[in-house]
Amino acid sequence: MTATPTRASRPVTAAAIERLKAVVGPKGYYDQAADMAPFCVAWRDGWQGAVPLVLRPANTAEVSDIVKICAETRTPILPQGGNTGLTGGSQPHNDMSEVIVSTTRMNKVRRLDPLNDTITVEAGVVLAEIQKRAAEADRLFPLSLGAEGSCQIGGNLSTNAGGTQVLRYGNTRNLVLGIEAVLPDGRIWDGLRALRKDNTGYDLKHLLIGGEGTLGIITAAVLKLYPRPTAIETAWLAVPSPQYALELLALMRSRLGDALSGFELLQRSIIDFVLQTVPGNEDPVSTRSPWYVLMEVSGQGKTDAFTEPLQDALGAASEQGLITDGTIAQTLAQGRRFWKFREDVSEAQKVIGGGVKHDVSVAVSSVPEFIARTDAALEKAYPGIRHCSFGHMGDGNIHYNPVGPVDWKGDFQAERDAINLIVHDIVAEMGGSISAEHGIGRLRLAENERYKSPIELELMRTIKRALDPHNLMNPGKMIRA
Ligand SMILES: Cc1cc2nc3c(=O)[nH]c(=O)nc-3n(C[C@H](O)[C@H](O)[C@H](O)COP(=O)(O)OP(=O)(O)OC[C@H]3O[C@@H](n4cnc5c(N)ncnc54)[C@H](O)[C@@H]3O)c2cc1C
Repeated sequence: MTATPTRASRPVTAAAIERLKAVVGPKGYYDQAADMAPFCVAWRDGWQGAVPLVLRPANTAEVSDIVKICAETRTPILPQGGNTGLTGGSQPHNDMSEVIVSTTRMNKVRRLDPLNDTITVEAGVVLAEIQKRAAEADRLFPLSLGAEGSCQIGGNLSTNAGGTQVLRYGNTRNLVLGIEAVLPDGRIWDGLRALRKDNTGYDLKHLLIGGEGTLGIITAAVLKLYPRPTAIETAWLAVPSPQYALELLALMRSRLGDALSGFELLQRSIIDFVLQTVPGNEDPVSTRSPWYVLMEVSGQGKTDAFTEPLQDALGAASEQGLITDGTIAQTLAQGRRFWKFREDVSEAQKVIGGGVKHDVSVAVSSVPEFIARTDAALEKAYPGIRHCSFGHMGDGNIHYNPVGPVDWKGDFQAERDAINLIVHDIVAEMGGSISAEHGIGRLRLAENERYKSPIELELMRTIKRALDPHNLMNPGKMIRA
């Protein structure tokens, strides 16, 4: 089925703008360019657009009224949370054709039920705040990612964010029991059920989760909480290659079971980039190794419950030659410094620049083959290319972000499409995904059409057209209607 781009690109009418302002009152909108600028530009990657109005509703009823007016006046809407998305999905087009609906003011925790292990939050609550509120109730909300101080749960849900704890707890999708959303015609769907079992038909929340704002605006959610770990061990380990890391992962799982909560792979080049660009970091281990693993073990019990089991497991790994050096954090603070180093990788990549970024996944067992094949293919096409891979090895999700050769003349970004083709063709051949956790947005729109099967694309368009027949919700992102 051929895609028909139907995005309207006529400017929002003055009459619609006045009606929308009236819904939220003077505190609930920005219409001056300087105020709107931060909502229109991406943290990284240069996405930038322009809108005539940024709406900041205070509650679900206001969102509903906004969407009703937009439906009536055929005004496209860009739902926005913390604007930390990495695919051009959360920034507007550059033609004043849409309004931004930001959930920033919808930041209330509606309920925390410790005996049901749930927290009910509005879409605009910042992820770090949810983690904090859970910890205050002696619980854990396990979603954790580098942008957690800015991203909002509505954005996390809409991108089905991953992060560093997926190995143990799953993606955002796995952490949700119910949602409330405003549909493209303005009706409020109250699906805020706090149930762990509910087989009463299609599980509609999963259409909006990962929907990137194309099917409605999520306004609240019931999230799962977990016991707060009382015993945490963090280790930084030097490994000779991704194959050794894979075998280490298998050994750690067999020795430590579900206590293994994080398993990140980092190539030496990214360690050097962090040390060069982000002050305050030091090399966690002195041995220079081509690859490293950052590993976390956590669970209940005495604070040292995993000290011995981890030491034993790493002793076995050392005997088998899987690790060549390593250190176990001696304090929680040192463990947090290891994780801070990992989080600073995004910042380092931004400062270094010139990287061509990929967020791919393959079967966990295929990660070493993927890296080896892709490195070889790129080395052939671009001799001297600097390999730079890191990511969530435990989930088979690698951020494969090569940087141009040191002596490259001109802008290496000009090679982006050609490099994407090489990388993503290999991913597709290996049965992988071209977007493991960041989503499609505008960045991967055309590529998704290349790699997704016609039947899946047709089903996606059928759903989009059924729920949003006028293509008003985040048009031109994720799927061409
Ligand atoms: C430093 C850094 C590290 C990151 N690390 C990770 C990582 O490890 N794993 C990962 O998965 N991502 C990561 N990201 C990407 C990003 O943080 C996530 O995608 C995050 O979930 C986006 O949340 P947000 O509130 O910023 O959403 P936004 O960027 O505002 O929006 C993202 C998408 O969701 C839609 N949306 C937002 N709110 C709503 C709503 N209420 N209803 C409907 N649609 C909505 C938007 O239209 C857009 O399509 C990282 C980003 C940065 C900058």
